[in-house]
Amino acid sequence: MCRHLGWLGEPVTVASLVLDRPHGLLVQSYAPRRQKHGLVNADGWGVGFFDGPDERRWRSAAPMWGDASFASVAPALRSGSIVAAVRSATIGMPIEPSASAPFTDGTWLLSHNGVVDRGVLPLSAKAESTVDSALLAALIFDRGLDALGDTIAEVGAADPNGRLNIIAGNESRLLATTWGDTLSVLRRDDGVVVASEPYDDDPAWEEVPDRHLVEVDRDTGLTLTALRGS
Ligand code: GLN
Repeated sequence: MCRHLGWLGEPVTVASLVLDRPHGLLVQSYAPRRQKHGLVNADGWGVGFFDGPDERRWRSAAPMWGDASFASVAPALRSGSIVAAVRSATIGMPIEPSASAPFTDGTWLLSHNGVVDRGVLPLSAKAESTVDSALLAALIFDRGLDALGDTIAEVGAADPNGRLNIIAGNESRLLATTWGDTLSVLRRDDGVVVASEPYDDDPAWEEVPDRHLVEVDRDTGLTLTALRGS
């Protein structure tokens, strides 16, 4: 199981979300607190963010803790819409930069925390890697993000062992699902964080119940909806 995080709000630095927190993704890469599957997340990492309408990504197949170049640059990367992940590869899956989230269709950035039987997913020439998460991302992009909840419920029904936690963001919206793993939300004055686990011990973190869809919109705020099959 990987750990992931999304931000929608005022521009903040990548370092402030990912590196500087006492239990941020960097620490979660070697000492996650709520991870049920896998001990460390050392099989790669990725950070994606919107720079105006353009999405930009930096992905790696190495542990985040060893990347001094990223640590040097992250304090200068600033965005109002960020999706980041550290990866613990599912057995049998490739370890390569293109298998690290976030995935993109050029419009959205998307991370998957979990596992899905590739046999229940359509083959897609658009998938960035043969990893299950990339095939799932391609299906979600194909169906459209407005159908995210329905797509997850459908894949969950087809693969009862699937764990399908998603975080997806574009310039103005941030979406997340819980299906088999943990997710917490922090409503800050300057924006909203969704994360597999809290990056600190602020009591304002709220746990999202399983099989729910979180939608954050710059105009309408945060809504939580139960998914079909819950
Ligand atoms: N199954 C995906 C992979 O192999 C995601 C793994 C995870 O959530 N740990 O990368």
